[in-house]
Amino acid sequence: MQPRDLSDHAVYAAGRGSEEVARELGLAPDELVTLSSNENPHGPSPAAAAAIREQASAVHTYPKSAHTDLTGAIADRWNVEPAQVWLANGGDGALDYLSRALLNPGDSVLVSRPGFAYYAMSARYHHGRVNSYELKQSSGFAQTPDTVLDAYDGERIVYLTIPHNPTGTTASLETIERIAAETDEETLIVVDEAYGEFASVESALALVEGREEWSARDDVAVLRTFSKAYGLAGVRLGYAVVPDEWAGAYTRVNTPFAASALACRAGLAALDDREHVERTVETVEWAREFMAENLDAHTYPSAGNFVLVDVGDATAVAEAAKRKGVVVRDCSSFGLSDCIRVSCGTEEETERAVEVINEVLA
Ligand SMILES: *Cc1c(COP(=O)(O)O)cnc(C)c1O
Repeated sequence: MQPRDLSDHAVYAAGRGSEEVARELGLAPDELVTLSSNENPHGPSPAAAAAIREQASAVHTYPKSAHTDLTGAIADRWNVEPAQVWLANGGDGALDYLSRALLNPGDSVLVSRPGFAYYAMSARYHHGRVNSYELKQSSGFAQTPDTVLDAYDGERIVYLTIPHNPTGTTASLETIERIAAETDEETLIVVDEAYGEFASVESALALVEGREEWSARDDVAVLRTFSKAYGLAGVRLGYAVVPDEWAGAYTRVNTPFAASALACRAGLAALDDREHVERTVETVEWAREFMAENLDAHTYPSAGNFVLVDVGDATAVAEAAKRKGVVVRDCSSFGLSDCIRVSCGTEEETERAVEVINEVLA
């Protein structure tokens, strides 16, 4: 027998872990500087790590109260109802729940090019089709209402990534609001704020909640994750905040206990550990500026925990940097064969990365 026809699905192959790369290069894992996956260079929140250890002896029970507690804490933080918080196995899991809740077979979604691969993958898993709008390199990958609206053709979901991965650009609430207002009533605008903590623009949650001068919309949802600023990528924890009007759909599409007890307890502890997030954001702000000032190549202004760099031949530069012990993301797979994306590391890691990339470019 065979599975269904999966030939239009992109294959997702995770990058290799640093242990494996280090072994291949004959280096100790701690000699390798890995700045390819936008992970937190300070590790997880220590409070979250402690919460995981503490929960370990109780993992024989289903995460009933842990799930409720975390949903409640997130709802409090954003001033929404608990039902509006769709917890999931990573932000990616939350994207799947949105696909499940919204897409009928054959429905289309609109994604940015270049952009985050999982939007399209999730849509295809759910029998959807994928169209794209282009963010032009020649205009600095600017996210304007027209870049989206000119390409829009009645899609069921439109994805905005703010800050955008891999380019680092943002868009204002006015831009999001205009896109939401000028698309069909039955089109959902998903604002992916995986890197929201690193940006100074206001969260689109203002549009979901109806904060200050904004009225609450029923066609905007926001995605958030614990993988980046909170340093919990290995735990797999994220969520969508959806409009009140149809928030109850979660109970009809979710996998029971969508986030594990360990994930929920870690998330709760991390939410309270302001100091860890602040330290992380400070390091990122420093590293973005350091890279912009010291790399001997054009960099794009970034609101994320990474910087996109114009290097000419991205594959060659990334390969050469890796041989010198610095792993960065070759953006050819994003369709940007002249760019690498360098995650913000600690001061030491970032300085080392800049030194090595400059050596390679020279
Ligand atoms: C990292 C990331 C996510 C979510 O990742 P998870 O680890 O699944 O939470 C979502 N969107 C973008 C653009 C990302 O870079």
